[in-house]
Amino acid sequence: MSVLRGRKIYSVLAFALVVWLAPAAAQENKSAGAGQHVNPQRLRETLEKLSEFGRKPDGGVTRLGFSEADMAAREYAMGLMRAAGLTVRVDAAGNIFGHREGTEKLPVLLFGSHIDSVLHGGNFDGDVGSMGAIEVIRALNDNHVTTRHPLEVIIWTNEEGNHFGLGTFGSSAASGKFGPEVLARRGDDGLTLADWLRRYGQDPARFAEARIVPGALAGYLELHIEQGGVLDEAHIPIGVVQGIVGIKHWKCAATGFANHAGTTPMNRRQDALAAAARAALAVRDEVRAEPGRQVGTVGYMKIEPGAVNVIPGRVEFPVELRDLDPAKIERIWNRVEKRFAAIGREENVDIHCALDDSDDPASSDPEIQALIRKAAEEAGLATMDLPSGAGQDAQEVAKVAPMGMIFVPSRGGISHSPKEFSTWEDVANGAEVLYRAVLMLDQASARERPAQ
Ligand SMILES: [Zn+2]
Repeated sequence: MSVLRGRKIYSVLAFALVVWLAPAAAQENKSAGAGQHVNPQRLRETLEKLSEFGRKPDGGVTRLGFSEADMAAREYAMGLMRAAGLTVRVDAAGNIFGHREGTEKLPVLLFGSHIDSVLHGGNFDGDVGSMGAIEVIRALNDNHVTTRHPLEVIIWTNEEGNHFGLGTFGSSAASGKFGPEVLARRGDDGLTLADWLRRYGQDPARFAEARIVPGALAGYLELHIEQGGVLDEAHIPIGVVQGIVGIKHWKCAATGFANHAGTTPMNRRQDALAAAARAALAVRDEVRAEPGRQVGTVGYMKIEPGAVNVIPGRVEFPVELRDLDPAKIERIWNRVEKRFAAIGREENVDIHCALDDSDDPASSDPEIQALIRKAAEEAGLATMDLPSGAGQDAQEVAKVAPMGMIFVPSRGGISHSPKEFSTWEDVANGAEVLYRAVLMLDQASARERPAQ
């Protein structure tokens, strides 16, 4: 984690404080700038049609990246783009771009999301941002609006990563995260990633060309469902995403001594499960010990030998911490480690942890956050600043362009489930804010710089 990044996060937080009063102002100006540019009915029809690709009897959808259902849905999306007058191009990673000319020679303004789903997923994750982006183009056409910057709608490939276990695949290819070795990865069906790219009509040898050069984009916007319950609970229609949280994940093991459950007295035990259970509660306590939206999880325990009449000798468990601020993750982890050491001493068990995986947080651009807030305010919609606890394509794009995300509420905070739901009104509100934010970003004077 670079020092610079940490500083950027502090400046984002300071900025968020300064504009704390924005939601109240939005409420008062309910009539200001009223009128909707996007067509809610048309957007709904498009989303309902998209939900047919990979539909399950329970109403949910299974549209894994690189599957037949995904490919059919991509054809549908490309058809919509062409019908809206966009010039469609598919890059070497399978990402779909729909281009609309600008009036000046400026870098591209990019916005969109993904249309692949998880196994038994819902019809809003990714779909809302993808179809919402196409609706913005249609609304611009309806209103005969031209922009200074060229606009591009993007549909990223394989965001969920069920296939090949590579989440945010398309955007990671765009940010330059993957080397060519990733193409040799083989799925359960025996096909490699290179095979699938060929089926998409792409040449795997040109994979590196999917990379977006830093500075090539004027900005990136993504509309997405929150996937958590914060906005729904607060009855706030628009979330301004501060950034995508960083994730650190440690592999831990408690090692005691497996012994007879009937003959070993209680004061002579080295019970690895008792120690691991206390460790899991210590993680929860330390995460709760300071204010904020940080989360910490022990997701499973693997108990050995795992018999009803044997004291557990060894327990493996992961610890995962997430927050926007890497310093906070570090601070909490230091306390957790001290607690683990104390529990180990008390239980006569050795607890050892090693860092397994780490994803840096990605900050939204403060200027774009302010602009989304203003766009919502002018549409008469209240906003709330919040982090994204889920991974997003936007976290990869943040490496090459200033990024901002708009959240709409998820009913009951349910996502990655057939029960995932956002009201059509919330969906239309999100698309309207995206429409206004695109036009504001297009006009933002600080971004007047020549194309590279
Ligand atoms: Zn998503």
